[in-house]
Amino acid sequence: MRGRATLKGCATGITTGIAFVVVLFADTLDAALHTQRAPAHVAAPTLAVNADTQLLVVAPHPDDETLGAGGLMQRVREVGGRVHVVYLTDGDGYPEGVQYEGRVESPTADDYRGYGRRRRAEARAALTALKLGRYAYTFLSFPDGGLCRLTRQYWSEHRSAYRSPYTRLDRPPRSEIVVPNTEYRGEDLTQELARLIGDYKPTLLLVPRREDQHPDHCAAWYFVVDALYDVKRVHPDFQTDLVNYIIHWNSWPFDDEEDRHLPTPPGLRGGASGWIEFRLTPAEQRAKSDALKRYVTQEHVMSYFLDGFARANEVFSRPRPPQVVLPARRNLCCEQ
Ligand SMILES: [Zn+2]
Repeated sequence: MRGRATLKGCATGITTGIAFVVVLFADTLDAALHTQRAPAHVAAPTLAVNADTQLLVVAPHPDDETLGAGGLMQRVREVGGRVHVVYLTDGDGYPEGVQYEGRVESPTADDYRGYGRRRRAEARAALTALKLGRYAYTFLSFPDGGLCRLTRQYWSEHRSAYRSPYTRLDRPPRSEIVVPNTEYRGEDLTQELARLIGDYKPTLLLVPRREDQHPDHCAAWYFVVDALYDVKRVHPDFQTDLVNYIIHWNSWPFDDEEDRHLPTPPGLRGGASGWIEFRLTPAEQRAKSDALKRYVTQEHVMSYFLDGFARANEVFSRPRPPQVVLPARRNLCCEQ
């Protein structure tokens, strides 16, 4: 998550620009996903979890996993399933946050890197508060604020890797590299995600919706879909339940925080499934609120936003069959 100032209307810019390849891939990938179209007469869609559930949550930044699915993650663990969170970035490209923490007007690259380390520590504390186990996360340390650029301009090694204007890095720290020689390129991020998904084989895969108005969140959707094509080629029998969550949608959900019930984002349809309401127990609500408080740096600058998600339920949706491959032929998520 980042600041409210970054969230301008942008959904109109997020459309599939490569439809010509869609038909070739959609049937194959659709067969790998339990994507569902809900007729109007059927009961409300649900998320069923049990001891066989292997949940993978794709979080663009530290805190997105708890905001979107802090209750669901607890439930999976409570019934004996497994949970893993993959953080695409360290959340280190947030000038307002770094300025606040460092009391500096012009942060240096070291300031941004230090901020990222602090947010990673906060993520570990939050997952501990949710009692998810010690090895429940992976940090990929890709560039915060730069993921949309990797879907097209910085896709392959035909040009230099993307360099973060904040940290000045062009690759993850060696300790966080999953696939050797990874740099800040789109195809490298796809490969890392494909490796993680192929190894972990989630039965339930949670990823932001393509309509999420933060460019990194929107890009996360496209990278996961692209990685699933690769996984399907290597593991033809792989199947997963692909489910979306959403964090950034206009002024939702912090415009009616008095209501303990989290409404669905106004004006946004519930994908192929219709909206899925997941109710938290009082204990799960308390643990989620406690976990969100571990994100101290974010509480300092946007506690109103975090509070907006500390409610009695979470909302999800299942997407229509993904119909995109990377690299994109035009910018998919950068117009926000
Ligand atoms: Zn985020």
